[in-house]
Amino acid sequence: MAFSPLIDQLVEALRCLPGVGPKSAQRMAFHLLERQREGGVHLAEALQQAMGRVGRCRTCRTFTEQTQCAICADPKRDRSLVCVVETPADVLAFEQSGSYRGLYFVLMGHLSPIDGIGPAEIGVSDLLETLRDSDVEEVILATNSTVEGEATAYYITEQVRALGIGVSRIAQGVPLGGELEYVDVGTLAHALSGRRAVE
Ligand code: ZN
Repeated sequence: MAFSPLIDQLVEALRCLPGVGPKSAQRMAFHLLERQREGGVHLAEALQQAMGRVGRCRTCRTFTEQTQCAICADPKRDRSLVCVVETPADVLAFEQSGSYRGLYFVLMGHLSPIDGIGPAEIGVSDLLETLRDSDVEEVILATNSTVEGEATAYYITEQVRALGIGVSRIAQGVPLGGELEYVDVGTLAHALSGRRAVE
């Protein structure tokens, strides 16, 4: 039953959120209309601004409103280290652990041939471009310890090695099948300090 085309439109729009089916989308729409009109307007404005203005760092590919992110632009970061992660959430996890002062490269996913995600989609050539003629001495692979994360790490290892740059993999304090984003700060710091050179 439809009593308002605008409500239908809102419910439909909310369904773009992960894990939100028709029922929860409807519940959210009614909640905003009944009790959170101001919050709803604020949400719409925040969405509009973020969608319009947040782009990618030209160097590491993480989200930023500038051409280069604050980490890449920080002269105090250790430019001999690049930590390769799957998502911007992983960058935040490492930053919160306080145990890393190098640079990052964000793949925005992992290799997944079945979904049509190959080396081009995760920016491998951008990574290699960044590494060429740089001061980087070690690339730390911190992709998730899932099957896809391991396959991605293996692929990148081969490519980076060809440039004569050292490659290491974070230690397996991270549970198998674990996603970095959900690993606690202490475990992450430990995984980083216990990283091993890939032979
Ligand atoms: Zn950056």
